[in-house]
Amino acid sequence: MDHGPEEIALAVNRLRSGGLVAFPTETVYGLAADAFDPRAVARVFSAKGRPAHNPLIVHVSGPSMARRVVQNWPEQADRLAASFWPGPLSIVLPAADDLPRIVTSGGPTVAVRCPDHPLTLALIEAYGSPLVGPSANRSGRVSPTTPQHVRASFAGDEVFVLDGGPSSVGIESTVLDLSRDPPIILRPGVITRAEISSVLGVDVAAGPAAGDNPEIPVRSPGMLDQHYAPRARAQLVTASGVAALPPGTVVIGFDTSGEGMAVVMPRDARGYAAALYRALRDADAACPPGGRIAVVVPETGGQDREVWEAVMDRLRRACADRE
Ligand code: AMP
Ligand code: MG
Repeated sequence: MDHGPEEIALAVNRLRSGGLVAFPTETVYGLAADAFDPRAVARVFSAKGRPAHNPLIVHVSGPSMARRVVQNWPEQADRLAASFWPGPLSIVLPAADDLPRIVTSGGPTVAVRCPDHPLTLALIEAYGSPLVGPSANRSGRVSPTTPQHVRASFAGDEVFVLDGGPSSVGIESTVLDLSRDPPIILRPGVITRAEISSVLGVDVAAGPAAGDNPEIPVRSPGMLDQHYAPRARAQLVTASGVAALPPGTVVIGFDTSGEGMAVVMPRDARGYAAALYRALRDADAACPPGGRIAVVVPETGGQDREVWEAVMDRLRRACADRE
């Protein structure tokens, strides 16, 4: 994972020729292309199998580069950037007229963030221009938190992978729509509504994903978008439900009984988030053909309640009914 300037130069060359580079971030690994090169961005969509209606987040080295992709960089955005960048907060604002609309899925707004990883900040600086960076996995599947995860999804030469070690946060950024009044959280993450509200001095609204708290286990076909999904079918179970699972079920849970627990998770919200996608991938690998994964619902209270909400958002989608 020790990448010198040569690796960055190779990655820059790849981007200049319209190619794809996987970069490490603190959230998950991203699949980068030049945000102002529509053909390169189209390659990102096709490599991922991503639907054209799912817009990409643009990655920048800081607020001055962010100004290039938006119409206007408001004072509120400056305050958020000063508090949370580099870091896992994406800010949605009206898009600059010259930003290719393939990036925004044709919409009038763009999401922008500055990732907190030295290698990727160096890459963006060296490239000198904003990069799109959706998660470096096939659309709908489990996000990658290591370079090995990225390589498992893409053929050898298709993507140049910058190895920056495991992602420290482990789940995707909080997405905040600052084009609305009041601003609204579109996707929960480890930067919380409470933190954002306090920096802005206004009550930020919770999006549909952040606020709901459905009964467990989730059983509402069509209600939840399936996403972050392992290959094997996955379901949420309570700790007391583990004993009743059919034999051969691969369980992601906590080390209480010590019995039948294939993947043991940390009990704190941030530790759980950092371990989540690796756990889903490991469980998938351990699952026999036709087997199932069961995820024991964590205890989600306490001071990191909002981080748990972000974790539960991912778990519900990973375990959503398929059809
Ligand atoms: P991913 O790149 O896989 O982390 O997904 C990016 C997500 O960011 C999308 O699925 C949207 O939820 C959100 N997003 C990106 N751009 C916009 C935008 N212009 N407006 C609203 N949400 C956005
Ligand atoms: Mg993704």
